[in-house]
This record gives sequence, C-alpha cells and structure tokens, in this order.
Amino acid sequence: VSDTPVVTRFAPSPTGFLHIGGARTALFNWLFARGRGGKFLLRIEDTDRARSTPEATEAILKGLTWLGLDWDGDPVSQFARADRHAEVAHQMLASGHAYKCFATQDEIAAFREQAKAEGRSTLYQSPWRDADPASHPDAPYVVRLKAPREGATVIADRVQGDVTIANDQLDDMVLLRSDGTPTYMLAVVVDDHDMGVTHVIRGDDHLNNAARQMQIYAAMGWDVPVWAHIPLIHGPDGKKLSKRHGALGVEEYRDMGYPAAGMRNYLARLGWSHGDDEFFTDAQAQDWFGLEGIGRSPARFDFKKLEN
Ligand code: GLU
Repeated sequence: VSDTPVVTRFAPSPTGFLHIGGARTALFNWLFARGRGGKFLLRIEDTDRARSTPEATEAILKGLTWLGLDWDGDPVSQFARADRHAEVAHQMLASGHAYKCFATQDEIAAFREQAKAEGRSTLYQSPWRDADPASHPDAPYVVRLKAPREGATVIADRVQGDVTIANDQLDDMVLLRSDGTPTYMLAVVVDDHDMGVTHVIRGDDHLNNAARQMQIYAAMGWDVPVWAHIPLIHGPDGKKLSKRHGALGVEEYRDMGYPAAGMRNYLARLGWSHGDDEFFTDAQAQDWFGLEGIGRSPARFDFKKLEN
C-alpha cells in the first residue's frame, strides 16, 4: 500500500470502431481512477502502421466521449514515441540486459527445425547472446532482451491470482527490429512507465504479455504496475462475443438511441458486480468499483437484456 496517486490508462489499437469489449475496459479504468481521485489516460497504440487508421482513432475518441469517459490530458500517440522506445532499448544494450542479434530468418528457421528433430524446445536461442561485440559483423541486427533462462516470472494478478510462467518458456524477445522500430512489447512498457501508470486493467488476452513485460521492467529496474487482467466477454451462448450476438460497436447503440448512462451501467456490470445492485449512479459506481469485484469467468453479454 502506498500513497502514490492512481493512474490508469486505456490503450486501444486504432484498427476499428470502439467495440463493447474495449468500452468495458475503458470504463473499468475510468471508474477505478475517478473513484480514487486518480488520473485516467488515453494512449492510442498506433505503432502498427499498416493496420492503424486515423478514422479508427476518431471513432474511438467519439465513442469514449459519447460514453462520458473523459480522459486526462491529451491522447498519447505511441508511434510518436518511437525514438524514446529505441533510446530505452539502447540503454538495455549498454547495461548488458539486451544484445544485438545478427541471425537471419533462415538461420532461425534452421535452428527450429534442428531443435524439433532432436526433440528439444524450439524456442529460439541466439548464438549472439553471449558473443563478443568485437566479433559483430557489419550487418543488420535486431535487439533482443537477455531474458533470464532460469527461475520463473510470477504475475501477481489482482483478478487471476498469482500466475507463474517458467522463464525457459519465454525466448529472448525482440525489442527493436532490424529497421530500428520498436516492438509492441517494448513500446507498452516504456509508455506505461513514462506515463506513470500504476494499474494496468485490460483483457486477459494480454496475460501472457505481462510476463514478458515484467522481464523488461526488471531489466530497466522499474516498478511493475498492479496487474488486473479481466476475462473476455462472451455471448449468451458462451462463445466469444461476435456480431451474431448483436451490435458490437458502441456507436451503434448511440445511433439506436440508447442513453449513455444506461450503457455505462450495463457495461459496468459485464464482469463486475456489487452485491445485488443492478442500477447505480456514476458516483456510486466510482465509489464501489474495485478490482476485487471483478469475476474470474467470462462475462456474458446479452443484447436482449440491454434492450429491456
Ligand atoms: N493495444 C492493446 C489492444 O488494443 C492493449 C494493450 C494494453 O492494454 O496493454 O489490445
């Protein structure tokens, strides 16, 4: 327990509209921060240039605005921070927590094939990990994290409990690609650190990423945020939420005339509960919302219930 003010963030990839799942993640982060006098930040994860569009960014901002989820400060563009991400990778190179790997795709494929034939783990192990820099060729390279090979990484998750991942299950992840651009994994950690994020509340499809991200935090000697990985949303049939379960885009509900307050109330209860209370004001939701109220099993989205 510390007196550090709470800082949460919503970090969507701008590849489409704001969907129900994203809106719920944003809402949980907003409730958590607002209920604690903290900050709720918005970061647009637009590093994937091929898939990110300004229209999607626009749609996400509009959706959040309609829902009344106001963020603090200006939205941060992850892509605009690429130099800072590269700077951190070079810091890790200098401190010996990362190394330059000159292996070609063919060499990596050959490694995997041989490992498979010999019944060993096919996780790539670069021969450059412990190479003398004097032996480095003048050739393109990626920067890889010198990840611990022994022991385990424990994600102390506030929703999932302690999740332990053996370090020999994780390879030396790439931090910088051969064109010098940062990978998603590096960018997220640097941004969360620089933005002072104290609590990462996001979908549990990112749980495995948390282990890798913790290795980067450790290499930099940075404090790890509190993790809360929320189970994804399913349809009433127990299958992953999709179009056939009803509208997925938040703006579709706006266009159908749903009140934003009702939508907030409905989304708040997707995977979070407070006793038997079904309806609450924003003030109550902010007051009551806590990570301990988030369930461990997938929330069920029932379009019909929202209609009634
Ligand atoms: N940009 C990621 C996504 O949209 C979220 C990353 C994160 O929350 O750490 O799935």
